[in-house]
Amino acid sequence: MTPLYPPFTIGVDLGGTNTVFAIVDSVGHILVRDSFPTATATIEEWADTLALKVTSMIKNAQLEDQIIGIGIGAPCANAITGSIEAATDLPWPSPIPLGTMVQARLKLPTTVTNDANAAAIGEMMYGAAAGMKNFIVLTLGTGVGAGIVCDGHLLSGTRGFAGELGHVTFPFAADRPCGCGRTGCLQTVASAKGILTTTRHLLNVSSEPSTLRNIPDDRLTAKLVCEAARQGDKLAKEVYDYTGHCLGKAAAEFAAFTDPEAIILFGGVANAGDLLLIPMMESFRENALHLYRDRVRFLISGLNGADAAVLGAASLPHLHS
Ligand SMILES: [Zn+2]
Repeated sequence: MTPLYPPFTIGVDLGGTNTVFAIVDSVGHILVRDSFPTATATIEEWADTLALKVTSMIKNAQLEDQIIGIGIGAPCANAITGSIEAATDLPWPSPIPLGTMVQARLKLPTTVTNDANAAAIGEMMYGAAAGMKNFIVLTLGTGVGAGIVCDGHLLSGTRGFAGELGHVTFPFAADRPCGCGRTGCLQTVASAKGILTTTRHLLNVSSEPSTLRNIPDDRLTAKLVCEAARQGDKLAKEVYDYTGHCLGKAAAEFAAFTDPEAIILFGGVANAGDLLLIPMMESFRENALHLYRDRVRFLISGLNGADAAVLGAASLPHLHS
């Protein structure tokens, strides 16, 4: 059996579909995990369900006195206020004073932050950024987010909204409208949805044969495009080449803000690995100011895929311990 390293924390990943929670030791081993569907009738019901399940999980593990805190990663959560400000993919009206609600029920210090910041702390505590003081985590999923650690500190900004790098605009996306109401945001290219937009465009303008042409449009996913690229499909590979090149250009600009040691890709889209990393590195080299060229490492998340979000959340209490 894997040795365990106290103290322990509770990680909670509040997702649009499921809420996943786990007891995690100080080096990132998950002792036990569970989940329940997020869509409860009210946020109070969600908090009651979580409190009940977490309490019995702690009791069953006989760790009543060894839990130092709860970390919650949630969409649009503000680390300064501990509230969810305006999440469009959660079933309840915002703002939600999540930290206060959970702390009142479980009587444990509770830290709330958005998914991207949780990912950054998780990478620093247990993942690819172990030992680093300057790095940027880009979360590539339904949207694009970022967690920025500079000089050992997670950047929050005046109101907790620092690091919305998915909504920095670039000429390569100039013709793509974003959900935020503007055009040209990085996430219109580098999210799962962005990858589908690029795929549909290439399927339209190119005559290249592709296995993707056999998939009905409403069944097409970024994961299927990735699988096709891995099997050598030229058009699918071109989609990832393009996406990686755009990410490299974006990274060249982001490097100028914080002089990072590494840029880490996190989330479902990052599972493409080298399909994204190789064109990204090439394009970074072509576009970055000479000061940063060959000085930044490009890495894929070091947190175990399906557990990455809950591990990120579990790492939060350590920031304050
Ligand atoms: Zn945007």
